[in-house]
Amino acid sequence: VLELDGVSKRFGSETVIDDMSLSVREGEIVTLLGPSGCGKTTTLRLVSGLERPDGGDIRLRGESVAGSGSFVAPEQRGVGVVFQEFALFPHLTARENIAFGLKEWPADEREARVDEMLSLVGLEDQHDSHPSELSGGQQQRVALARSLAPEPEMLLLDEPFSNLDVDLRVKMREEVRRILKEAGVTAVSVTHDQEEALSISDRVAVVNDGRIEQIGTPEGVFQHPESRFVAGFLGHAS
Ligand code: ATP
Repeated sequence: VLELDGVSKRFGSETVIDDMSLSVREGEIVTLLGPSGCGKTTTLRLVSGLERPDGGDIRLRGESVAGSGSFVAPEQRGVGVVFQEFALFPHLTARENIAFGLKEWPADEREARVDEMLSLVGLEDQHDSHPSELSGGQQQRVALARSLAPEPEMLLLDEPFSNLDVDLRVKMREEVRRILKEAGVTAVSVTHDQEEALSISDRVAVVNDGRIEQIGTPEGVFQHPESRFVAGFLGHAS
């Protein structure tokens, strides 16, 4: 679904993404794991189209969306994003928040899709609540439902659990993985939290200084680190 081929990005004289290549398969959940400032968020911004690469190619479903002269606008890419702070509209109900990206849909299809999403995230009973009346976990479910409603090609999750308290974070990891798998969506998430990477991902890519140091199944990466950096980062953070 997604391919990064030798992608680089500089801010001024600083190279933030350095010749990064990554291939994400249909239905897969890949997590970019690494310390603060290693370039995780910038990678997501390159995929969603909020930044342009200085080199390399980004392809979605085989079509070049950035690099080699092409640039597809963010809203044309079919990429959904779930932000750290959820970014729900406070004056809209859960139902209205989820329907927000479906304005172009015929009314009956839109309502049916919103109902489907409410049931996917288990919020049928709270559909008329405003974000302030919902718990953190419920707000996250609404944010997820809103991003999934327009049937994106893929979903990007930027530190999706960092605004939740510890107990809820653990619970929501399982929940979010279940929802993503049930929706059959391809997803890339970023985090600096190794337990999170372990619990939600099919594959984990450990990022250091704008490069992928190692990529593999969570067990593979955690049990067989291939570089001193990976071993140190994983060992250190546990
Ligand atoms: P964090 O977990 O702290 O968000 P990260 O791994 O997501 O870290 P990025 O946000 O991608 O890291 O940032 C990588 C580097 O790029 C940092 O050194 C940051 O200061 C720099 N950077 C990011 N965006 C910009 C920008 N718009 N202009 C200049 N420098 C930037």
